[in-house]
Amino acid sequence: MFDPEIIRSHFPFFSHHPELVYFANAATTQKPASVIRGIAGFYEKENTNVHRGLYKLAANTSQKYEQVRQKVADYIGAEKKENIVFTSGTTAGINLVAQSFLAPRLQPGDEVVISIMEHHANFIPWQQLCKNKKANLRIVPINKKGELDISAFKKTISQKTKMVAAVHVSNSLGTINPIKEIIDISHKKNIPVLIDGAQSAAHFDIDVNKLDADFFVFSGHKMYGPTGIGILYGKEEFLINMQPAVFGGDAIKDVRIEETIFADPPKKFEPGTQNIAGVIGLGLAIGFLNKINKKEARIYLNKLTEYATDELKKINGLEIIGRAKNKSALVSFIFENIHPHDMATFLGAENIAVRAGNHCTQPLMDFLKIPGTVRASFSVYNTFAEVDRMVGAVRETEAFFR
Ligand code: PLP
Repeated sequence: MFDPEIIRSHFPFFSHHPELVYFANAATTQKPASVIRGIAGFYEKENTNVHRGLYKLAANTSQKYEQVRQKVADYIGAEKKENIVFTSGTTAGINLVAQSFLAPRLQPGDEVVISIMEHHANFIPWQQLCKNKKANLRIVPINKKGELDISAFKKTISQKTKMVAAVHVSNSLGTINPIKEIIDISHKKNIPVLIDGAQSAAHFDIDVNKLDADFFVFSGHKMYGPTGIGILYGKEEFLINMQPAVFGGDAIKDVRIEETIFADPPKKFEPGTQNIAGVIGLGLAIGFLNKINKKEARIYLNKLTEYATDELKKINGLEIIGRAKNKSALVSFIFENIHPHDMATFLGAENIAVRAGNHCTQPLMDFLKIPGTVRASFSVYNTFAEVDRMVGAVRETEAFFR
């Protein structure tokens, strides 16, 4: 049986903050004891570099590091561990694809297609690349509910499109995009697709093989793992033909004065000393996630989100932003007369942690003609009682400003 209280007991953070309602999970999740202790244990007992030392401890660390690569591959249904590149996070993964994959292929007049709901991390790299290459960034709109306009998407892509990049789950609206459909439509025109899985990797069943995704990126810290570690999944045929964008030691086969021969992927994309403790921590986070029944977790989070939405909607003047039919575990809302920052500050004073602002989706906020939203994002350790506390505090704040 899915029990948020039992799950919560694995997170030391909450015993240090018994009064806090933590609804900033889309920004970063808390970490279970297994991840925290595992990282500390690595530094205490095993700290060595990978792929270099010939002594036993270093060989063990290298082995553990590569075992996590396999664990990640299994977690997202990748064919091989060689499809998995360790990065510092979603942002780094997208930049790597923009620079190493797309830049050499993009010609003046070509197009890159994204949606208006993209996080800046999946917006700016393409925008800047298009600027540098005199290519055009085409942006697919959303409907009133915050759902991607698929017919507009079909009309936007063409022979000129060299890349489609789309978010799986919007961090501002909660919209779950039909990524399989996006990929299939794009592939009919031979267009490669990158999926930003930052908000989906924790509780969605990801199968990159079934999806036929060309690239899939996500961050460890949004799935109970440490900061500074992330994943770029890439199809073998693409990774093999990509030049690294960052150069250095350990990513090579041979270096001569005249020339360097790079290592095979994924190694060629991991130059220099990597975030080894981060990799260990990510492996433990996946171990933690594998013990949670994903289906039950999604059912619970859907109920919690529906409850929060229904209760918030009863409050005078509150408008929900993002009413997609398929929605993840977050609720964004605004008031006409209360700035999101003011609302979040008042909630903060009541020990309720939410995020307010544009959530790194400024073009989306411009499109919606709002300054930002207050966003409560839920996780498997959150409870209905916490939602009640937030709703009560929002109601009081609304009354204060009235
Ligand atoms: N994409 C989405 C949808 C996000 O929510 C975030 C972070 O909030 C990112 C990308 C960037 O992730 P990171 O900061 O871990 O690189």
